[in-house]
Amino acid sequence: MSRFLSKRYKSLEVYVPGEQPRDRQYIKLNTNESPYPPSPLVIERVNSAEVSDLRLYSDPECTSLRQRLAEFYGFSISNIFVSNGSDEILSFAFMAFCDGNKGIAFPDITYGFYPVYGDLYGIKCDIIPLNDDYNIDCSEYYGIGKNIVIANPNAPTGISIGQDEIEKMLETNPENIVIIDEAYVDFGGRSCVDMVKKYDNLLVVRTFSKSRSLAGARLGYAIANEEIIKDLNKIKYSTNPYNINRLSLVAGEAAVEDEQYFEDCCKKIIKTRGYTTEKLREIGFEVLPSDANFIFARHPLFSGEYFYKKLKEAGILVRYFNKERLYGFVRISIGTPAQMDALISEASKIVSEQK
Ligand code: PMP
Repeated sequence: MSRFLSKRYKSLEVYVPGEQPRDRQYIKLNTNESPYPPSPLVIERVNSAEVSDLRLYSDPECTSLRQRLAEFYGFSISNIFVSNGSDEILSFAFMAFCDGNKGIAFPDITYGFYPVYGDLYGIKCDIIPLNDDYNIDCSEYYGIGKNIVIANPNAPTGISIGQDEIEKMLETNPENIVIIDEAYVDFGGRSCVDMVKKYDNLLVVRTFSKSRSLAGARLGYAIANEEIIKDLNKIKYSTNPYNINRLSLVAGEAAVEDEQYFEDCCKKIIKTRGYTTEKLREIGFEVLPSDANFIFARHPLFSGEYFYKKLKEAGILVRYFNKERLYGFVRISIGTPAQMDALISEASKIVSEQK
């Protein structure tokens, strides 16, 4: 830390992304990326003409990509906002809506960036514990009188909440924004995008990083009432109007267009998740019921950290969390069937060594 850093940031605890070690080839199951490449249409469209156009600024309004998303979801373009990863939308939303007494409520076990944004912008965070079974206690949010952010499915548990519960949060908090972060919803959860037509306090946040295999393109999008989108634009045009580069805009459009490829990839992940869950349960793991492209699992014989270390030695990366109630768990992203077979075989060895 330099002596120049503003006092207000000195104690800021930053978000720690999953590790990306370069010392050897790993089976990478630690950051919930897709094991499948982007659609062939993405590869075809990001061609040399696009590359030579990089001398020009990108479209600050992202019209073409927003149009595609609007058509895909059955909304008007004025309901769509696109961003440099969905992290950017979350950051903009915390900045735009949560100051003063408003604050924001979210679960104690959820996406690790929420408390970081809270801290960064000096926002009052109301942190509500998950139930003993790691489900979100939805009733705690009814009429809470604060903004709310919920990852649905939640991370790192993978557990979803229902449509009725979301609706009740919206109805009982009409003067507050309810942000539903649907980063993982394409893998079996139910999207609440259609509720945007009914509720003007709903902000749905989504990403191209997982189900559309474009984590490196950094593309997120939001669907909400037109006024909320205008507010997000206010922040965007006060920070970085060209927040999405030309290549990512082209890639995103092609990815939305190739609906079949997107659906096939999601189906494969869901199938592999079922298979992996079953195999891990057979060797004694408890696996929480996941609607995401990862599973959250623990074994009674060892800690999450121990399991992580043993897997890393064997060339497989997963994630563990140094946090109360989570010590036993690892989060395992769903890879290809071959990658999951390698994980299952290594996990079996580690379990038998304990006996
Ligand atoms: N929300 C959740 C719940 C996530 O797990 C992630 C991925 N780390 C994000 C949002 C952000 O994804 P991205 O910025 O790649 O769109």
